[in-house]
Amino acid sequence: MVRRVAAFSVHTSPLAPPGSGDGGGMNVYVDSLARALGEAGVTVDVLARADDRNSGIVEVTDSYRVVHLDVGPRRSLHRGAWTSLIDPYTEAARSFIRANGDYDVLHAHYWLSGAIAHRLKHELDRPLVSTFHTLALVKSAAGFSDDDTRAQIERDVVRCSDLMLANTRDEAEQLIGLYEADATRVEIVPPGVDHVAFSPVGDRNIDRAALGVEGHKVVLFAGRIQPLKGADVAIRLVAALKDPHVLLLLVGGPSGIDGERELRRLHALVDETGLADQVRFVGPQEHNALARYYRAADVCVVPSRTESFGLVALEAQSCGTPVVASAVGGLRLAVDDHRSGVLVGCCDANNFVEPVRRILDDAAYREELARGAVAHAATFSWAIAAARLRRHYSDLTAREPVRCA
Ligand code: UDP
Repeated sequence: MVRRVAAFSVHTSPLAPPGSGDGGGMNVYVDSLARALGEAGVTVDVLARADDRNSGIVEVTDSYRVVHLDVGPRRSLHRGAWTSLIDPYTEAARSFIRANGDYDVLHAHYWLSGAIAHRLKHELDRPLVSTFHTLALVKSAAGFSDDDTRAQIERDVVRCSDLMLANTRDEAEQLIGLYEADATRVEIVPPGVDHVAFSPVGDRNIDRAALGVEGHKVVLFAGRIQPLKGADVAIRLVAALKDPHVLLLLVGGPSGIDGERELRRLHALVDETGLADQVRFVGPQEHNALARYYRAADVCVVPSRTESFGLVALEAQSCGTPVVASAVGGLRLAVDDHRSGVLVGCCDANNFVEPVRRILDDAAYREELARGAVAHAATFSWAIAAARLRRHYSDLTAREPVRCA
């Protein structure tokens, strides 16, 4: 039986607000899964890093704490500086773990945490579970290169992990194909969605009035602003629709090395296409407040160029809003094509035009997809994800640990 897990989320606290900077789907994932594991009888301490907003030990529930270790400066670090955290963070985590009892499993989220938990696996003789969320080699295949150190660290972590979790079959195949992961140690556990926060129940007209979007055909984009998220495709889509009633809401803030530049590029694109009255830059919103945006929208577009899952697609559907998404990565699982939304060829706004126009102009079609969206989202839950994970954790206790350098 696995009762206590030390999870590692070094580059960002699960309590940091998602939607800009270092905060995104991974924060939501780590936080939601830790809560659900607690409900399933597994106590989780997430070891994060103290920053200007989060510090100390935060007891989130009876069985889930976030431990913010004081390592490095108390601010977000440039990605290039992340590897400088590995040594001091390992030291701080080692001291904390030695002083605070016995964890049955170390679970790393993302490559940076993987580097640290990998070292501690050997030192503390505990099984290592890894969830990568995104992979350097997959990003570079989509034209977004990361530094070589990251890919090398990922290879080492893959080689030494006792268990790897993939969101989808695609991600499992990437781990096996690109990183030569041992297939017997890869398990697929799709993420969930908070059906209480993201519910279709409510008066859409009230939500639309609250957001000041009455009388518009509302297209929503929600996510961190960075090139791989494809907000530019959403703007080009509005240009191609040539319908003055369409209003695009862009929710989210700049993130990553190219975030600020991308935001300037999007503003320039809006000017260039003469769409100032049809595109609203809303900025990042508090996570649960997004439900109002999803419900107020007629359609949510997810034009990502690469995506390991795409929680936004699931949240929108859970609110009863159809999704038109690029057919890349996890979005192919997150959207039930032609039933909860439509999947289109990646990266070209023209591919989005027909499905989005039909959803905006054909109320019966929209309603049919909206019903399918709620039904599809209902098949994803954090409780199911936690129950599966608890079983996989327990299986580890009966397996020979991976011995590697
Ligand atoms: N999000 C948010 N506020 C915003 C924009 C996004 O809370 O202003 C959240 C959104 O609800 C979702 C997450 O950020 O849970 C984005 O996750 P997704 O998997 O779609 O993308 P990622 O950030 O992992 O690339």
